Amino acid sequence: MTEYHFDYEVVHCPLCDSSSFSLFETTVNRGITLHNWICKRCGLVFLSPRMDVESVEKFYRSKYRVHDIERDKPIQWVVEKEETRALYQIDLLEDWIGKVPHRLLDIGASSGRLLHIATQKFNCVSVGIEPGDNYRAYASQNFKLYLNIESLIAASEKQFDVITMSHVLEHLDEPIKFLSTLRKYVLQEDGVLFIEVPNLYGHSCFEPAHLYAFTDKTLSMMLRMAGFDILKVKMHSAPRDFGWRNISILARLSSRSRIKYPRQFVFPPYIKFQRSVGLSGTRHWYGYLFSQTKKFLTMYDS
Ligand SMILES: [Zn+2]
Repeated sequence: MTEYHFDYEVVHCPLCDSSSFSLFETTVNRGITLHNWICKRCGLVFLSPRMDVESVEKFYRSKYRVHDIERDKPIQWVVEKEETRALYQIDLLEDWIGKVPHRLLDIGASSGRLLHIATQKFNCVSVGIEPGDNYRAYASQNFKLYLNIESLIAASEKQFDVITMSHVLEHLDEPIKFLSTLRKYVLQEDGVLFIEVPNLYGHSCFEPAHLYAFTDKTLSMMLRMAGFDILKVKMHSAPRDFGWRNISILARLSSRSRIKYPRQFVFPPYIKFQRSVGLSGTRHWYGYLFSQTKKFLTMYDS
Protein backbone atom coordinates (compact mmCIF):
# COMPACT_ATOMS: atom_id res chain seq x y z
CA MET A 1 0.00 0.00 0.00
CA THR A 2 3.06 2.20 0.21
CA GLU A 3 2.63 3.50 -3.34
CA TYR A 4 -0.76 4.93 -2.41
CA HIS A 5 -0.80 8.33 -0.82
CA PHE A 6 -3.05 8.92 2.17
CA ASP A 7 -2.75 12.68 2.09
CA TYR A 8 -6.21 13.92 1.16
CA GLU A 9 -7.82 15.60 4.17
CA VAL A 10 -11.58 16.01 4.57
CA VAL A 11 -12.35 19.63 5.48
CA HIS A 12 -16.14 19.66 5.28
CA CYS A 13 -18.45 16.85 6.33
CA PRO A 14 -19.56 15.09 3.11
CA LEU A 15 -23.07 14.73 4.56
CA CYS A 16 -23.90 18.02 6.34
CA ASP A 17 -21.05 20.34 5.29
CA SER A 18 -20.04 21.07 8.91
CA SER A 19 -16.35 21.47 9.71
CA SER A 20 -16.68 20.50 13.36
CA PHE A 21 -15.33 16.98 13.98
CA SER A 22 -13.79 14.97 16.77
CA LEU A 23 -11.45 12.00 16.51
CA PHE A 24 -13.53 8.82 16.82
CA GLU A 25 -11.03 5.96 16.53
CA THR A 26 -7.43 5.39 15.44
CA THR A 27 -6.66 1.93 14.05
CA VAL A 28 -3.80 0.25 12.22
CA ASN A 29 -4.89 -1.87 9.24
CA ARG A 30 -2.54 -3.45 6.65
CA GLY A 31 0.30 -1.44 8.23
CA ILE A 32 -1.47 1.89 7.73
CA THR A 33 -2.56 4.12 10.59
CA LEU A 34 -6.16 5.18 9.97
CA HIS A 35 -7.90 8.08 11.67
CA ASN A 36 -11.67 8.01 11.63
CA TRP A 37 -13.56 11.14 12.68
CA ILE A 38 -17.12 11.81 13.73
CA CYS A 39 -19.03 14.88 12.56
CA LYS A 40 -20.42 16.72 15.57
CA ARG A 41 -23.49 17.90 13.67
CA CYS A 42 -24.75 14.81 11.82
CA GLY A 43 -22.78 11.93 13.39
CA LEU A 44 -21.23 10.66 10.13
CA VAL A 45 -18.02 8.69 10.76
CA PHE A 46 -15.40 9.10 8.02
CA LEU A 47 -11.74 8.45 7.23
CA SER A 48 -9.34 11.39 7.02
CA PRO A 49 -6.72 11.69 5.65
CA ARG A 50 -7.54 9.23 2.85
CA MET A 51 -6.16 8.26 -0.56
CA ASP A 52 -6.29 10.95 -3.24
CA VAL A 53 -8.58 10.39 -6.24
CA GLU A 54 -5.83 9.04 -8.59
CA SER A 55 -4.60 6.54 -6.00
CA VAL A 56 -8.16 5.31 -5.44
CA GLU A 57 -8.72 4.65 -9.13
CA LYS A 58 -5.40 2.81 -9.48
CA PHE A 59 -6.14 0.85 -6.33
CA TYR A 60 -9.53 -0.51 -7.45
CA ARG A 61 -8.46 -1.31 -11.02
CA SER A 62 -5.59 -3.54 -10.03
CA LYS A 63 -4.75 -3.83 -6.36
CA TYR A 64 -7.95 -4.11 -4.33
CA ARG A 65 -8.58 -7.86 -4.65
CA VAL A 66 -5.36 -8.94 -6.29
CA HIS A 67 -4.88 -11.76 -3.78
CA ASP A 68 -8.36 -13.14 -4.50
CA ILE A 69 -7.45 -13.94 -8.12
CA GLU A 70 -5.86 -17.15 -9.32
CA ARG A 71 -5.10 -17.74 -13.03
CA ASP A 72 -7.39 -14.93 -14.18
CA LYS A 73 -10.38 -16.04 -12.15
CA PRO A 74 -11.52 -15.43 -8.58
CA ILE A 75 -10.51 -18.16 -6.14
CA GLN A 76 -13.20 -20.57 -5.02
CA TRP A 77 -13.79 -19.33 -1.47
CA VAL A 78 -14.35 -15.76 -2.72
CA VAL A 79 -16.99 -16.94 -5.21
CA GLU A 80 -18.65 -19.08 -2.50
CA LYS A 81 -18.71 -16.18 -0.04
CA GLU A 82 -20.22 -13.88 -2.66
CA GLU A 83 -22.78 -16.56 -3.56
CA THR A 84 -23.94 -16.94 0.06
CA ARG A 85 -24.23 -13.20 0.51
CA ALA A 86 -26.06 -12.70 -2.81
CA LEU A 87 -28.56 -15.51 -2.06
CA TYR A 88 -29.54 -13.76 1.17
CA GLN A 89 -29.75 -10.35 -0.50
CA ILE A 90 -31.90 -11.52 -3.41
CA ASP A 91 -34.31 -13.25 -0.99
CA LEU A 92 -34.52 -10.10 1.12
CA LEU A 93 -34.99 -7.95 -1.97
CA GLU A 94 -37.78 -10.21 -3.26
CA ASP A 95 -39.47 -10.10 0.13
CA TRP A 96 -39.20 -6.30 0.28
CA ILE A 97 -40.31 -5.36 -3.25
CA GLY A 98 -42.93 -8.09 -3.69
CA LYS A 99 -42.59 -8.12 -7.48
CA VAL A 100 -40.23 -9.35 -10.17
CA PRO A 101 -37.64 -6.87 -11.50
CA HIS A 102 -37.28 -6.50 -15.27
CA ARG A 103 -33.96 -4.69 -15.48
CA LEU A 104 -31.46 -5.04 -12.67
CA LEU A 105 -28.15 -3.22 -12.29
CA ASP A 106 -25.58 -4.47 -9.75
CA ILE A 107 -22.92 -1.90 -8.89
CA GLY A 108 -19.72 -3.53 -7.63
CA ALA A 109 -20.69 -6.77 -9.38
CA SER A 110 -17.43 -8.54 -8.50
CA SER A 111 -17.51 -12.17 -9.73
CA GLY A 112 -21.13 -11.70 -10.88
CA ARG A 113 -22.83 -14.04 -8.38
CA LEU A 114 -25.68 -11.64 -7.61
CA LEU A 115 -26.28 -11.11 -11.34
CA HIS A 116 -26.39 -14.86 -11.82
CA ILE A 117 -28.80 -15.53 -8.94
CA ALA A 118 -31.09 -12.62 -9.88
CA THR A 119 -31.25 -13.72 -13.52
CA GLN A 120 -32.07 -17.30 -12.56
CA LYS A 121 -34.72 -16.26 -10.07
CA PHE A 122 -36.39 -13.36 -11.88
CA ASN A 123 -35.50 -14.04 -15.51
CA CYS A 124 -34.59 -10.34 -15.71
CA VAL A 125 -32.04 -8.44 -17.79
CA SER A 126 -28.98 -8.10 -15.50
CA VAL A 127 -26.16 -5.62 -16.03
CA GLY A 128 -23.16 -4.89 -13.82
CA ILE A 129 -20.52 -2.29 -13.01
CA GLU A 130 -17.15 -3.55 -11.77
CA PRO A 131 -13.98 -1.43 -11.58
CA GLY A 132 -11.56 -4.36 -10.96
CA ASP A 133 -10.15 -5.44 -14.34
CA ASN A 134 -9.81 -9.17 -13.54
CA TYR A 135 -13.21 -9.49 -11.91
CA ARG A 136 -14.91 -7.55 -14.70
CA ALA A 137 -13.30 -9.79 -17.31
CA TYR A 138 -14.47 -12.89 -15.41
CA ALA A 139 -18.09 -11.74 -14.94
CA SER A 140 -18.21 -10.46 -18.55
CA GLN A 141 -18.23 -14.04 -19.76
CA ASN A 142 -21.92 -14.19 -18.86
CA PHE A 143 -23.12 -10.62 -18.40
CA LYS A 144 -22.77 -7.11 -19.78
CA LEU A 145 -20.31 -5.34 -17.48
CA TYR A 146 -19.11 -1.73 -17.41
CA LEU A 147 -16.01 -0.22 -15.85
CA ASN A 148 -17.86 2.65 -14.16
CA ILE A 149 -21.09 4.62 -14.04
CA GLU A 150 -19.89 7.06 -16.72
CA SER A 151 -19.37 4.30 -19.30
CA LEU A 152 -22.77 2.79 -18.44
CA ILE A 153 -24.52 6.14 -19.00
CA ALA A 154 -22.50 6.79 -22.19
CA ALA A 155 -23.81 3.45 -23.53
CA SER A 156 -27.39 4.68 -22.85
CA GLU A 157 -28.01 1.88 -20.36
CA LYS A 158 -30.74 3.31 -18.16
CA GLN A 159 -34.26 2.72 -16.88
CA PHE A 160 -33.36 0.04 -14.36
CA ASP A 161 -36.19 -0.85 -12.00
CA VAL A 162 -33.80 -2.32 -9.41
CA ILE A 163 -30.28 -1.17 -8.57
CA THR A 164 -28.24 -3.13 -6.02
CA MET A 165 -25.04 -1.92 -4.33
CA SER A 166 -23.53 -4.34 -1.85
CA HIS A 167 -20.59 -3.10 0.22
CA VAL A 168 -19.81 -0.30 -2.25
CA LEU A 169 -21.13 2.97 -0.80
CA GLU A 170 -18.55 3.03 2.01
CA HIS A 171 -15.80 3.07 -0.65
CA LEU A 172 -17.04 6.10 -2.60
CA ASP A 173 -15.35 9.46 -2.25
CA GLU A 174 -18.50 11.43 -3.09
CA PRO A 175 -21.39 9.12 -2.21
CA ILE A 176 -24.14 11.77 -2.41
CA LYS A 177 -23.02 12.84 -5.88
CA PHE A 178 -22.95 9.19 -6.96
CA LEU A 179 -26.42 8.46 -5.56
CA SER A 180 -27.78 11.61 -7.22
CA THR A 181 -26.38 10.42 -10.56
CA LEU A 182 -28.26 7.13 -10.12
CA ARG A 183 -31.44 9.03 -9.31
CA LYS A 184 -31.15 11.38 -12.28
CA TYR A 185 -29.85 9.12 -15.04
CA VAL A 186 -30.08 5.44 -14.24
CA LEU A 187 -32.98 4.48 -11.98
CA GLN A 188 -36.49 4.25 -13.41
CA GLU A 189 -38.99 6.64 -11.82
CA ASP A 190 -40.78 3.88 -9.88
CA GLY A 191 -37.61 1.84 -9.34
CA VAL A 192 -35.88 0.92 -6.10
CA LEU A 193 -32.34 1.07 -4.80
CA PHE A 194 -31.05 -1.73 -2.53
CA ILE A 195 -27.90 -0.94 -0.57
CA GLU A 196 -25.89 -2.94 1.94
CA VAL A 197 -22.96 -1.54 3.95
CA PRO A 198 -20.95 -2.60 7.03
CA ASN A 199 -22.56 -1.41 10.25
CA LEU A 200 -20.53 0.80 12.61
CA TYR A 201 -22.46 -0.93 15.43
CA GLY A 202 -21.26 -4.46 14.75
CA HIS A 203 -18.54 -4.52 12.07
CA SER A 204 -14.89 -3.59 12.60
CA CYS A 205 -15.38 -1.22 9.61
CA PHE A 206 -12.07 0.61 9.57
CA GLU A 207 -9.98 -0.33 6.53
CA PRO A 208 -7.85 1.78 4.14
CA ALA A 209 -10.51 1.59 1.42
CA HIS A 210 -13.49 2.26 3.72
CA LEU A 211 -14.01 6.01 3.60
CA TYR A 212 -17.21 5.90 5.68
CA ALA A 213 -18.61 3.83 8.53
CA PHE A 214 -22.40 4.10 8.57
CA THR A 215 -25.08 3.57 11.15
CA ASP A 216 -28.68 3.00 10.03
CA LYS A 217 -29.29 6.66 10.90
CA THR A 218 -26.41 8.22 8.91
CA LEU A 219 -27.06 5.90 5.95
CA SER A 220 -30.72 6.97 5.88
CA MET A 221 -29.72 10.65 6.15
CA MET A 222 -27.31 10.26 3.23
CA LEU A 223 -29.95 8.67 1.00
CA ARG A 224 -32.43 11.42 1.86
CA MET A 225 -29.83 14.08 1.01
CA ALA A 226 -29.39 12.41 -2.38
CA GLY A 227 -33.15 12.59 -3.04
CA PHE A 228 -34.43 9.22 -1.88
CA ASP A 229 -37.11 8.09 0.57
CA ILE A 230 -36.42 5.11 2.82
CA LEU A 231 -38.73 2.10 2.45
CA LYS A 232 -37.02 -0.59 4.57
CA VAL A 233 -34.00 -0.92 6.86
CA LYS A 234 -32.58 -4.10 8.39
CA MET A 235 -29.51 -4.82 10.51
CA HIS A 236 -28.23 -8.39 10.28
CA SER A 237 -25.15 -10.60 10.08
CA ALA A 238 -26.33 -12.90 7.29
CA PRO A 239 -25.46 -15.65 6.58
CA ARG A 240 -24.87 -15.85 10.35
CA ASP A 241 -27.97 -15.72 12.55
CA PHE A 242 -26.79 -13.47 15.30
CA GLY A 243 -25.32 -9.98 15.52
CA TRP A 244 -25.69 -7.00 13.21
CA ARG A 245 -22.59 -6.64 11.11
CA ASN A 246 -24.41 -5.19 8.11
CA ILE A 247 -27.16 -2.74 7.26
CA SER A 248 -29.46 -3.41 4.30
CA ILE A 249 -31.70 -0.61 3.12
CA LEU A 250 -34.29 -0.15 0.39
CA ALA A 251 -35.05 3.31 -1.02
CA ARG A 252 -37.05 4.91 -3.82
CA LEU A 253 -37.01 8.29 -5.52
CA SER A 254 -38.39 11.07 -3.36
CA SER A 255 -40.82 13.73 -4.49
CA ARG A 256 -39.50 16.25 -1.93
CA SER A 257 -37.89 19.22 -3.62
CA ARG A 258 -35.91 21.04 -0.94
CA ILE A 259 -33.64 19.13 1.39
CA LYS A 260 -31.96 20.65 4.43
CA TYR A 261 -28.59 19.57 5.77
CA PRO A 262 -29.25 16.84 8.33
CA ARG A 263 -28.34 17.01 11.99
CA GLN A 264 -28.83 14.79 15.02
CA PHE A 265 -27.81 14.84 18.66
CA VAL A 266 -24.26 13.43 18.62
CA PHE A 267 -22.71 12.08 21.81
CA PRO A 268 -19.53 10.15 20.78
CA PRO A 269 -19.06 8.18 24.07
CA TYR A 270 -22.55 6.68 23.62
CA ILE A 271 -21.89 5.84 19.96
CA LYS A 272 -18.58 4.21 20.99
CA PHE A 273 -20.38 2.23 23.68
CA GLN A 274 -22.97 1.01 21.19
CA ARG A 275 -20.12 0.02 18.87
CA SER A 276 -18.46 -2.01 21.68
CA VAL A 277 -21.79 -3.71 22.37
CA GLY A 278 -22.25 -4.67 18.70
CA LEU A 279 -18.64 -5.78 18.25
CA SER A 280 -18.91 -8.09 21.26
CA GLY A 281 -21.57 -10.03 19.32
CA THR A 282 -24.47 -9.00 21.58
CA ARG A 283 -27.30 -6.72 20.55
CA HIS A 284 -28.16 -4.85 23.73
CA TRP A 285 -26.29 -3.13 26.53
CA TYR A 286 -27.53 -5.64 29.16
CA GLY A 287 -26.24 -8.56 27.08
CA TYR A 288 -22.95 -6.76 26.75
CA LEU A 289 -22.65 -6.08 30.51
CA PHE A 290 -23.51 -9.72 31.22
CA SER A 291 -20.83 -11.01 28.82
CA GLN A 292 -18.23 -8.56 30.18
CA THR A 293 -19.03 -9.51 33.80
CA LYS A 294 -18.78 -13.20 32.92
CA LYS A 295 -15.42 -12.60 31.23
CA PHE A 296 -14.17 -10.69 34.26
CA LEU A 297 -15.31 -13.39 36.70
CA THR A 298 -13.71 -16.13 34.59
CA MET A 299 -10.43 -14.20 34.66
CA TYR A 300 -10.76 -13.68 38.40
CA ASP A 301 -11.45 -17.40 38.96
CA SER A 302 -8.38 -18.54 37.08
ZN1 LIG B 1 -21.88 16.06 9.22
